Amino acid sequence: MSMTATPPSVQATPAPAHSAFEDVNRFVRRASAMLEVADDVVAAIVACEREVVVSLPLRRDDGRIDVLTGYRVQHSQARGPRKGGIRFHQTVDLDDVRALASLMTWKTALIDVPFGGAKGGVAVDPRQLSDREHEELIRRWTRTMVHVLGPHRDIPAPDMGTTARTMGWLMDEFHRLEGFQPACVTGKPIALFGAPGREEATGRGVIQIAAAALRAHHRDAAGVRVVVQGFGNVGKFAIVSAIERGMKVIAVSDVTGAVVAPKGLTAEDVLATSVSELFGRYEQTDPARILEMECDVLIPAALGGVINDENASRIVAPFIIEAANQPIVGNADQHLHARGVTIVPDILANAGGVLGSYFEWTQNIQEFRWPIERFRDELDLRMATAFNNVHETSRRYSCNLREAAFVVSVGRVVESFLMRGQVI
Ligand code: NAD
Repeated sequence: MSMTATPPSVQATPAPAHSAFEDVNRFVRRASAMLEVADDVVAAIVACEREVVVSLPLRRDDGRIDVLTGYRVQHSQARGPRKGGIRFHQTVDLDDVRALASLMTWKTALIDVPFGGAKGGVAVDPRQLSDREHEELIRRWTRTMVHVLGPHRDIPAPDMGTTARTMGWLMDEFHRLEGFQPACVTGKPIALFGAPGREEATGRGVIQIAAAALRAHHRDAAGVRVVVQGFGNVGKFAIVSAIERGMKVIAVSDVTGAVVAPKGLTAEDVLATSVSELFGRYEQTDPARILEMECDVLIPAALGGVINDENASRIVAPFIIEAANQPIVGNADQHLHARGVTIVPDILANAGGVLGSYFEWTQNIQEFRWPIERFRDELDLRMATAFNNVHETSRRYSCNLREAAFVVSVGRVVESFLMRGQVI
């Protein structure tokens, strides 16, 4: 071998791929260390219980067949049937779905609902699907996954790229195969056994938590300046709720662009289907810079990974409420905490969605519909309880809110896991 040749070991070592699942597991391991959980138990609670990967041939409107990849990852049933959304997005892959399934386990434990964690998805750009293709895709996903689903096994819900309509089709397909069981899926249309209040629940919960975080720092919610990234289910209802509490939403972005509204958006603006429809009303801005705007509360409510090593130093908001799942990645979390930024983690901030799903599931099982006032009251009360618990835990352990949230949820999952006698 020539003396100048590059040693094979150097050539053969690729840069480690970033893993969203590993990002979640780091927090789980840290909380486990704080709780002094045994290593073998940590290994058991970190692992995904079941992973289903399927090919989904889809007949497109032009007659072609596209073969798409679908996923369902069931992370844990330690505390109850698995629960989690279905995402249609071009970036969906197995690692992503594992991370999101695991987050559901910690989220359901944190808000103390009797569910475990799961997540599903299809790697597809939902904007490229016609209504017929979207319906056919979710029906095929359901037919292929039906053996692992059910009201007491695994209960899907909407996530990015899927809606109440999608869940209605899922329920209909499930019923054809398994008979009438509306509790097999949540986030359904009201006309099809959905629950009044579920659609707004995630966004409402996000703002409830934002107000609680401000209060913990002796600040009033009224008048604070809010920036929201994302104008879908979560972003829109967060904006509505923020306006109701007297907050000022001074900028919003989505995949079509961004606008600034120094005097604040109005509730009517939320009726627009996309931010591009607001271009006539407000000044446009660079969507890539919206997270770096000066404001009091920053709410990423779109994709994961948007706050990272590259832009963390330019984020100036003192409060970040993680409405999206895993919006902060890499060393950005440590960097922002070190600068004194208050970050409310996803498993707490966006837990209103699964809490609302729990209310819908119980109503379906009892065949008894609640009025929306009861739904909202229960949601607000349980979100406030979850925040107070995490806040108190952060004081007790002298740690940040994310670490505290994982301490609460890991403690609960470990307790249930050991009580079941699952260690073999
Ligand atoms: P959605 O599909 O309804 O909306 C997503 C929004 O993000 C759209 O407005 C889209 O234009 C925007 N977006 C996509 N790419 C973008 C980009 N590069 N820059 C700016 N905006 C972009 O999805 P959703 O249900 O509102 O979910 C949003 C986030 O909240 C996801 O991370 C999801 O996992 C999380 N979440 C949703 C729920 C729920 O109940 N829907 C519950 C918990 C967590």
